[in-house]
Amino acid sequence: MRDLIKISYFKFLDFIGENKTALHRKKPSITILTYHSVVPDQVPVESYEYRNAVSVSEFENQVSLLKKIFKVISLDQAFNLLTSGNMTENYAVITFDDGYKNNYDYALPILKKHEVSAAFFITTSLIETKDCLWTDWVTYLFLKTRQQKVIITDVEQNFDFYLQTVDDRIKASERLRKWMKSLSSEKADRILEQLKVQTKVDTHPVEEDAQRYAFMNWNQVKELAEQGMEIGSHTHSHSLLIMLSNEQVEEELTTSKRLIEEHTGRTCQFFTYPNGQLRDFKDVHIGLLKKMGFKLALTQIPGFNPPGSDLFRLKRINITNKMYLPVFKAYVCGSRKSKYLEEY
Ligand SMILES: [Zn+2]
Repeated sequence: MRDLIKISYFKFLDFIGENKTALHRKKPSITILTYHSVVPDQVPVESYEYRNAVSVSEFENQVSLLKKIFKVISLDQAFNLLTSGNMTENYAVITFDDGYKNNYDYALPILKKHEVSAAFFITTSLIETKDCLWTDWVTYLFLKTRQQKVIITDVEQNFDFYLQTVDDRIKASERLRKWMKSLSSEKADRILEQLKVQTKVDTHPVEEDAQRYAFMNWNQVKELAEQGMEIGSHTHSHSLLIMLSNEQVEEELTTSKRLIEEHTGRTCQFFTYPNGQLRDFKDVHIGLLKKMGFKLALTQIPGFNPPGSDLFRLKRINITNKMYLPVFKAYVCGSRKSKYLEEY
């Protein structure tokens, strides 16, 4: 019911011309969208696990709409427009973060059908493995466990998580992930191991729900590139740059760039910051990206990119499972400001 009211309200905004006005106001600029997952229509996409996913038919509706109101371009074309100063209209770029296999299975056919290009940013250490992101693990374990209480202990911090309701479990996952993002990857690994023991979950996310959690293999990444898609780096291990030494950042960038280039035969020149907020990276990291030949980098800071935008702090709109088409339209047109919704 609440969703119906929300949809009607956003349809009304469109009807009275708010989207048109907003589009006109932001012209010329580049709107870059962040997707993570596209999953089959049968999947319960409204549940928390799927908060950064859209269904196949929703994705197709969104791509059709983007083609109507924007000129949909590749990231390389966006780079040329931003550096040449020849921007004249409203453009859109479609991007995907992380490297989930569902991108290959469900997004690629729609992109091909509509003859649009997209850029896929992959976490190279997870490609061709049966593992998934630690953030996905944490949510999976909390949602799945039969335990009503889980205790995580550490020298500086102790957590007592009470897990009676789904809401409790979501809050527990959010709290623990937030803290774990401030830890070194070795320490975060140890906490994850502790959580696996405490939750007594004996199933594996990738085995149980590959459509949601599995990563692509290199053949699939290569095929995306051969089908005209751009492949960029999202680091090697998905560590937040701010948590690493400069040497480690350099290593992350070098390894992911090298692997992508070896497997696709194309130059890797684009980058997205894990987590993507301003606090997650520093100027020195931008220096390293430039030194290594990256042409631009995308954040997860909500907004649009007019001429003169900083090429290493480009803004994006994160697309979530709650963006029904009229809501999606309002966000991409700019008549409603997008809140930052956590990426992982
Ligand atoms: Zn990510």
